Amino acid sequence: MEFSELVAVVTGGASGIGAAIADRLAEGGAQVAVLDLNPAGANPAHFAVAANVADDESVKAAIAQVAERFRRIDIVVNNAGIGAVGTVADNDDDEWHRVFDINVVGMARVTRAALPYLRESPSAAVVNTSSIAATAGIPQRALYSATKGAVLSLTRAMAADHLREGIRVNSVNPGTADTPWVARLLDSADDPAAERAALDSRQPHGRLVAAAEVADAVAYLASPRSGSTTGASIAVDGGMQNL
Ligand code: NAD
Repeated sequence: MEFSELVAVVTGGASGIGAAIADRLAEGGAQVAVLDLNPAGANPAHFAVAANVADDESVKAAIAQVAERFRRIDIVVNNAGIGAVGTVADNDDDEWHRVFDINVVGMARVTRAALPYLRESPSAAVVNTSSIAATAGIPQRALYSATKGAVLSLTRAMAADHLREGIRVNSVNPGTADTPWVARLLDSADDPAAERAALDSRQPHGRLVAAAEVADAVAYLASPRSGSTTGASIAVDGGMQNL
């Protein structure tokens, strides 16, 4: 199997897109460690570790636990992220710092802690979860979009920095995906079914993106099959970014 003997860390792997990624990598033979605020939510087949990507001590302790358990880390999927709604008029400085700390600095933190192990791997790959929001200019998402744009820049810079160490760094850019996050948003609407239909119809291909589709793109970027791909991003958005 393509990930036999490899160890993958997936942040935010207890729900939604991250859970699908964790399962997909495990199907390919990887041993998977899920780092999440809610480790109890992870598929019990994986090694779940409590971690807050916004806390450097927590991240270092979690990566140390993974290394102690598996003695190696080959793949890091920086997927943990949160949303933020509003224009620049709506979110104060504290909110900007809080969301950047999770969505952007968290990726640097987790990768930094895992780097010594990635450098030893014959097949090292980092995959970051960005979003269609990085490029789409979505109303009421100023802060969230800025964090996801930063993820694209970070991905390219990291790819350049670690190319000669044999570590590839890429991103996936999902469109609106069918996850508990989106379900929570729909549930808060007056008519969730009508809101769901409206959301489906706004997607170029008429439906939400499946988490498993994002996971397949991540699996490709994590695998040696994409050995000539680094600093790239794959849109999994029904065509929203490119059509
Ligand atoms: P989700 O809310 O279903 O899952 C997110 C997971 O991350 C949860 O398990 C949560 O506990 C964990 N998490 C949150 N903050 C954390 C922290 N500080 N430390 C560790 N874990 C933390 O969300 P999702 O929809 O699966 O989104 C996952 C990623 O995909 C996010 O980065 C999001 O920005 C991105 N994304 C989502 C969509 C979408 O439509 N759902 C679209 C594009 C991009």
